[in-house]
Amino acid sequence: MGCEMPFIMAKNLKCGLKKGDKCIKCNKPASVYLPYGPQKFCDKHFIQLIEKRFRKTIRKYSLIRKGEHLLVAVSGGKDSLTALYLTKKYFGKQNKITALLIDEGISGYRDKALKIAMKNCKKWRIPYKHVSFKTEFGIGMSHISKKISKTKKNFGSMCSFCGTMRRTLMNRYAKKLSADKLITGHNLDDELQSILMNACDNDIARFFRSGPLAGVKQIPDLVQRVKPLCEIPEAEIFLYANYVGIEHYSGSCCPFRAKAKRNIYRKILNELEEHYPGTKYSLWNFYIQLRVKFISLKILSGIELNKCKKCGEPSTKEICDTCKKLSILKN
Ligand code: AMP
Ligand code: ZN
Ligand code: ZN
Repeated sequence: MGCEMPFIMAKNLKCGLKKGDKCIKCNKPASVYLPYGPQKFCDKHFIQLIEKRFRKTIRKYSLIRKGEHLLVAVSGGKDSLTALYLTKKYFGKQNKITALLIDEGISGYRDKALKIAMKNCKKWRIPYKHVSFKTEFGIGMSHISKKISKTKKNFGSMCSFCGTMRRTLMNRYAKKLSADKLITGHNLDDELQSILMNACDNDIARFFRSGPLAGVKQIPDLVQRVKPLCEIPEAEIFLYANYVGIEHYSGSCCPFRAKAKRNIYRKILNELEEHYPGTKYSLWNFYIQLRVKFISLKILSGIELNKCKKCGEPSTKEICDTCKKLSILKN
């Protein structure tokens, strides 16, 4: 489970079509069926629908302003490459755009994905910054995993390890490159999985950190992370990327992927959507309303951050998680 899921989900968008079904926009043969509409679209009008949703999300939550330098975090997968493609298409003239490619040092996986990312950056004439865990932290994930397996210390999952270090680099480079916003490719499914997971874990602080603008308030030294694809389901991004011909990494999953828990939430949400079309958007709208109300009531003030004494990155503690983990590993 995992990497083949978007493909299966996208196939479901076609299964619901009957012979003779027509596009609601132009009456030509439909190629996509969205049960939550319910609506049917031809290729061209499905592409238009996705692009409209991307722009609407940006407008609704004021994610991007004219003249800002946009740094897009690109992993080589369908979501982040679609985010890069659409950002260039709609903001390429009025904004400076740079792609940030992070090599975590997982050979046979990220190197392959980043090769495709670089190919697309060149094709779309987007400058990119390629950084690696090895040069930034002195150690890559393959090496880290070997070290962890030898220790008895509990570091949490490899994903949380990798994710913490990646976020440190995203912020470090967003500042180094003087970016105003950091764009990620998180989609509707990613967001809902996090929301539901944090609710079930009774983690209210993390629960309210999801959404189109990461975090509860703007924090100095932390470049605002924005998610323009957060209102588009994963399967639809997959289909869109294929329709417009965005080459993306579709090989094997990350060998360290220990997202068993996330996959359960993914399965539950897909099952709910299948039985009750529209559930994903209902849950999303419920979350957005709740978040707005909580923030306006000032119940949520957001966290106060200090500077990590080792690397200077924002942190709730004296030493940030990345530095703490790295120093334990090095010793
Ligand atoms: P994930 O946590 O793997 O679902 O990734 C979420 C988002 O983080 C992606 O859509 C990208 O925008 C960004 N991202 C993940 N991995 C990388 C990477 N290696 N380099 C740059 N950006 C990344
Ligand atoms: Zn049409
Ligand atoms: Zn630090």
